Parts: sequence; C-alpha cells; structure tokens
Amino acid sequence: MAEEFSGKKFLGKTVYNGITMGKVMVLRGSQEQVRRTKIEDAEREIVRVKNAVGSTQEQLGALYDKAVKEVGESGAAIFEVHQMMLVDDDYLDAIYHVIRTEMVNAEYAVAITGDNFADMFAGMDDEYMQARAADVKDISTRLIRNLSGQGGADFSTMEPSVIVADDLSPSETVQMDKTKILAFVTVHGSTNSHTAILARMMNIPALIGVPVDLNKIQTGMTAIVDGAAGEVIFAPTELQCNEAEEKIRNEKEKLRLLRELKGKKNETSDGRTIDIYANIGSVSDVGYVLENDAGGIGLFRSEFLYLGRDDFPTEEEQFQAYKQVVQTMGKKKVIIRTLDIGADKQADYFALGKEDNPAMGYRAIRICLKQPDIFKTQLRALLRAAAYGNLSIMYPMIISVEEVKQIQAIVAEAEQELKAQEIPYRIPEQGIMIETPAAVMISDELAELADFFSIGTNDLTQYTLAIDRQNQRLEAFYNPHHKAILRMIQMVVDNAHKCGKWVGICGELGADTALTETFVNMGVDELSVAPPMVLKVRGKVRAM
Ligand code: PEP
Ligand code: MG
Repeated sequence: MAEEFSGKKFLGKTVYNGITMGKVMVLRGSQEQVRRTKIEDAEREIVRVKNAVGSTQEQLGALYDKAVKEVGESGAAIFEVHQMMLVDDDYLDAIYHVIRTEMVNAEYAVAITGDNFADMFAGMDDEYMQARAADVKDISTRLIRNLSGQGGADFSTMEPSVIVADDLSPSETVQMDKTKILAFVTVHGSTNSHTAILARMMNIPALIGVPVDLNKIQTGMTAIVDGAAGEVIFAPTELQCNEAEEKIRNEKEKLRLLRELKGKKNETSDGRTIDIYANIGSVSDVGYVLENDAGGIGLFRSEFLYLGRDDFPTEEEQFQAYKQVVQTMGKKKVIIRTLDIGADKQADYFALGKEDNPAMGYRAIRICLKQPDIFKTQLRALLRAAAYGNLSIMYPMIISVEEVKQIQAIVAEAEQELKAQEIPYRIPEQGIMIETPAAVMISDELAELADFFSIGTNDLTQYTLAIDRQNQRLEAFYNPHHKAILRMIQMVVDNAHKCGKWVGICGELGADTALTETFVNMGVDELSVAPPMVLKVRGKVRAM
C-alpha cells in the first residue's frame, strides 16, 4: 500500500504552520457516518456483533484496570457499568431484531439501537437515568469501532503520531494526550472550528480538507506534514525526508530567534503599548502560556472542562481547576469565559437535542440562563477561585442588556450563598464577549454594565457575514478582514473607551499579524492569541 503513495503530495488548507515528520495513526469510527447496507445473511451479522461484544468487553476490562490504578475504584466504576450495559439482554436483542427484520449490516443496527436507547434514557424523569444516555452512546460507538476493525485508539500507549482522520470533534480532541500528537490531518473540517483552534493552541502543524482516501492510509506509515506549504506527503522518498529534516532545522532556528523576544515589552517604536495575552482550553495549557511569555490569559474556554466526560464537573472540580490556573499565573490576569457549550461543542449529558441551526441555537449563555443551576455551580467555583488570584470572568454570546442584568442577579445569588456558608470568595472584574452584531450595536449600553469587552471575532464574523464557521464549503467566503468586521471592532472600541472600559480581541483574528498594526491604531487594549503566536505578535508590535 505504501508504494501506491510513495512521495505523493496531498494539498489541504492550513490550520497551523510548522513542519513535522512521523508515523501515522488513522482514526476511523465514531466520527464517520455509519452506512446502512443490505445484507443477505442475518445470522452472520449477529455472529459479528457477538464477536465485537467480546472484544469490547476485553477493552473495557483493560480500561477498568488502568483507571483503578490511576484514579481509584470509584473513578473506574464507569467502565464496569459499561461492561454491564453492553451485555444487557434488551440492548442486544434490540440490535439482533433490527438486523433480522431490516436485513441490514451490524454497524447500522448498533448505531440505530444506540440512538434509540439514548433517546429513551434522555427522556426519563430521573436524572441518573438521563445521564445513562451518554453511556449507551459511548458503548455503541465502541462496538461500532470494533465491528469496523478500528478498535479503540489508545493514547496511553501510542508513540507520538500524525493523526489522520475524516474529521475530529472538540470532544474527541480534548481527550487526546497532546504530547502524543505531532500533527492533525483531516479530510473534512473547517479552519474556524474548535478542533482547529485546539491545534493552534498546541502549536502543532494541522491541515484540513485533505482529499485522501482514508481506506488506503495505514497506521504506521510515515508522513511529512508541512503546514506552511499546506501539504502532506505519505510514505515519503528519501530525498523528501532529507528536505523535510532541513526545513525542521530551519524552523527550530526561527523559533530560537523568536524566543529572544521573551521578557521584552509589547511596545511600538513611538511608545504605544498593547497587552498580549493567550487563549487556553485546559489547565495543562498554562505551561504553553508561561513558555511563550504571555502577559496573562485572555480567554480560558471553560467549556472544555465539560467535554469528553460523562457528567457535569462538580463545583469542587471546577474550583480546583480555576484555582490552579490563577495560582500558577501569579499576579497575571486570568479571564475565564463561562460555559460556551452547544454548536460544535457537544456533550451528550447536556441532552441538548438536535437543532436545525445549532450555531444559532440553544448554546452558551442561553443554556446558563435557562438552567441557572448549571450556571450557578460554575459561578460559585469562579467566585471562590477569584479569592486566590487575578481572576476575571466573561460571558459569551450576549445579545441584550436584559441578559446581563439576569447574569448579575444570579451572580448576586451565588455571592449570598457563599457569604451565608462562610466560604471565602471575591467578586471579580466581569466582562462581556462581543461576538454578535446585536452586542456591537448596543455596545454603548453594554459598556455601562461591563468592566471590559472582549471581541470574539470567530463568531462575530460568522453572524455578521451569515457564514457557518463550521462549513468547509464556505471557507472561501469567510473573510474576517471584511470591512464590516473592522468597522464593528472600531465601534466597540470607541463605545468602551467613552465609558472608560478596556477592550480586547480574543477571536483568532487577534493573532492575524497582517492586522496587528490596524488594531494598535484602532486603540484595542489587548490581544489574546494562541500561546505560540504571542511572540510573533510581539515582534510585529515592536516593528511598528
Ligand atoms: C469567538 O467567537 O471569537 C471566540 C473567541 O469564542 P469561540 O471561538 O470559542 O466561539
Ligand atoms: Mg465564540
């Protein structure tokens, strides 16, 4: 198979520059649509299901043993529950019934049964039973992977690899061991998706829209991923390997030069300054922030704490995570964005249901205001952590003054509770994300209510240009340099400054060095960028 590819270049769209060479790991399975095919022999399909149940049981057993060692018996119990659910007679009989009556393939029968059982659980009154919806989906996905010969991708034992997949969801990406990923290459996906954002945060070369037949790519093949050239080469020739090694050496040298900017000010030659902070998605990203000498954290996407798990993080878990971040950052500012789940960031236990337009749907602050118990748990954790460092809070997807007033009322309730319980807390600086055209147009009124603004250009571009940021076919139309966006940013800066408030940009546009000078001239006070971009933007400011 490797000969077929030898030296062949595949072009894609660059998500993040950088060059790497290493072994491929192909991820197939959950992210691929399960195809419905007609079969002739139902009993043969049923035997396939039984065999796959056997191997799935073995994997779950191994995961249980590993989890017992790492997190103890109670943390590992979920894998025992999964083992029991997997051999539940109702579940298996339902799968066999679909195969026999519809004469369809085992993968499809498992997918349909998993969805039906998950819907049934999600519709129950009992919270415990509702949470089982995610479990039944999880075991069905595992079973489908085994049926299709993919097995489970085990990040604990894998070598650092180039991940090749059809597409990756944020919840899949967030579970990966980042030290084991050399690069991402996907057939689908969009440069504005949260998976792309994670790749930028991790400083790894990433390409999307690479037209390669995944059935022909094998785990273990060598690949060169060149983000800057937007190309991937599978089974490279010796000459190509030598060229890549040369480029990798040059990259290291460029990085070394960039590191010389550490400890220097973000100051133009005529003495104007701007803060350059970093965006993170997890506690472990703080290392990248410090390594790249960011002045603070301008956006901690707290929803990543909710992804890749089976149930809500508790107040205590969140408090510990936020506290660790603020303590590690010392006096530096840490802006934590409240839960922005929904759209491409899905966690089954939220049971959000299917929507025709999820990006314009039930998400972010809308969920928090409709389900204040979820919101208040997070706010309590944030207020508590604020007592330990320079923490600020900001609220996503705001469209009205009324929403901000409702938020203030819930913050006040959380404060009253903590006070009554004599738990240490602090009411921190609170800002609003400006990422809807509505928020831009009423930014004069919002400025009265907020301590600061942070402009989320990813969503602001999506909603202003009416372009789904997830839709790969619209990449050519997604233009964050559009005059409408730049005028909106200026309007927000002017309205904030009139009220004595500061303004940052935390969307991906903040790291676009073609606009750094424009932003400084507009009066933007802070740019929050992926950690590996901090020194590049600093270099641009200093060259002004
Ligand atoms: C944005 O929309 O620009 C933003 C920073 O938030 P997110 O990318 O997480 O939606
Ligand atoms: Mg956003």
